[in-house]
Amino acid sequence: MAKAIGKIVINSEVCKGCEVCIVTCPQKCISIGDKLNMKGYTYAVQDATNCVGCASCGIICPDGAITVYKVAR
Ligand code: SF4
Ligand code: SF4
Repeated sequence: MAKAIGKIVINSEVCKGCEVCIVTCPQKCISIGDKLNMKGYTYAVQDATNCVGCASCGIICPDGAITVYKVAR
């Protein structure tokens, strides 16, 4: 039977790089990248390997920049 794992999609043009999601993620799988978005912010990127799909990042993001999915492994 397939086991579900998490996957997130971060809207880089909405993210302001506040790092709240980074602090919140229990798996420590989000970081700030080194590229700038069109507004001039460095934005959050995901290291997808450890995501469990808990949705904490999507709930806490003040800008609604993160969508969380559960996907079959
Ligand atoms: S869904 Fe949970 S584990 Fe996955 S990136 Fe967001 S906070 Fe981290
Ligand atoms: S909480 Fe939202 S706005 Fe802040 S760094 Fe994470 S994705 Fe970007």
